[in-house]
Amino acid sequence: MKNNLSHIAQEYGTPLYVYDGDVIIEKYQSFKNAFDVKNLKIHFAAKALTNLSILKLFKEMGSGLDCVSIQEIQMGLKAGFAPEDIIFTPNGVSIEEYEEAINIGTKITIDNISILEKIGLKFPNTPIFIRVNPHLMAGGNNNISVGHIDSKFGISIHQIPIVLRLTKKYNIKVEGIHVHTGSDIVQADIFERVAKLIFTIADQFEDITSIDFGSGFKIKYKENDLETDIAKIGTQFSKLFNEYCEKRQKDLTLRFEPGKFMVSESGSFLADVNVIKQTTACTFVAVNSGFNHLIRPMFYNSHHNIKNISNPNGEKKMYSVVGYICESDTFATDRILNEVREKDILLFENAGAYCYSMASNYNSRFKPAEVLTLKGETHLIRERETMEDLLKNQKVIDIKI
Ligand SMILES: *Cc1c(COP(=O)(O)O)cnc(C)c1O
Repeated sequence: MKNNLSHIAQEYGTPLYVYDGDVIIEKYQSFKNAFDVKNLKIHFAAKALTNLSILKLFKEMGSGLDCVSIQEIQMGLKAGFAPEDIIFTPNGVSIEEYEEAINIGTKITIDNISILEKIGLKFPNTPIFIRVNPHLMAGGNNNISVGHIDSKFGISIHQIPIVLRLTKKYNIKVEGIHVHTGSDIVQADIFERVAKLIFTIADQFEDITSIDFGSGFKIKYKENDLETDIAKIGTQFSKLFNEYCEKRQKDLTLRFEPGKFMVSESGSFLADVNVIKQTTACTFVAVNSGFNHLIRPMFYNSHHNIKNISNPNGEKKMYSVVGYICESDTFATDRILNEVREKDILLFENAGAYCYSMASNYNSRFKPAEVLTLKGETHLIRERETMEDLLKNQKVIDIKI
């Protein structure tokens, strides 16, 4: 694959996103196989990587979809998902957007009391999921706190009595409980604590047929990073879930919404080295990209391994890798790379999730092309943008002053 990437870069040009479909299949299978429950439904979180061909790959594997906007739902429908396999889990959207989703027939998740009341008044017969915020601080470490008290997500577990009164009053059917911690879950015991708490909430809802545990599965960005051991979590979690089904005397559906776990490692971002600049402080490598294409390092301070695929045996040296955007635009500082020369191609790893989907046109640059490799074949799945794309919606008026 790595070797192949040089050829792909030559053929399609850079900057370029390349996704390895076989890796995505492997991740999906490992997730699915980790759980031993009667009804399991995986909803790929579309916002991680929204290319239609990728969504079709998930559809083909039997996945459902998790969408956070009406536009993502439309993309899902275009990719062939049935409305009932789509779960709409937005935050802070209008009642009108919910109404559209209800009319399409997706499952919907409600994460605030105001919308719950409006839905009760307007669409009393629509089954819903309730997104709860468990306020669980795990391990006393903010990085792994799940659903902290100030979070804008979910309905507080302390407000469940209100939820119960409203659903009773309006005769709303709660078909599922939803919790998405939004944090990296590495240890099985954290997951277990969340699960046990959610079961006590679920106990209060007679009609539920599903429990959706969202996501939060962590993957490795660099050596020695902790990552979610999905097989281990799957085994422990299945036991808990099966016991809960037994207690409730029904076969509930276990749902998850992994995004990053499914696609992060499949993605490679390729960029050309424009210039090498020696300063008194360090050696800068400037590539033909920036936070307009890959914003995670600047936005989240996230680490992406970088490799010089044009000179894999070159002498190792230290570099700061930056972009071509007029703004501080640093991908990495003090990185050891095989000697970098102008025109070399750098590979940024873990570029499958929240990379292209967060790209912009800042500095009036085109968004990159996207390529999918699958079963030995290479497919262009999105063209590089052109000037036409940048100008498409602009209205040029006559200016006289
Ligand atoms: C973003 C999101 C996910 C996916 O999270 P990952 O960390 O990418 O797995 C799942 N569910 C909801 C509701 C989300 O907003």
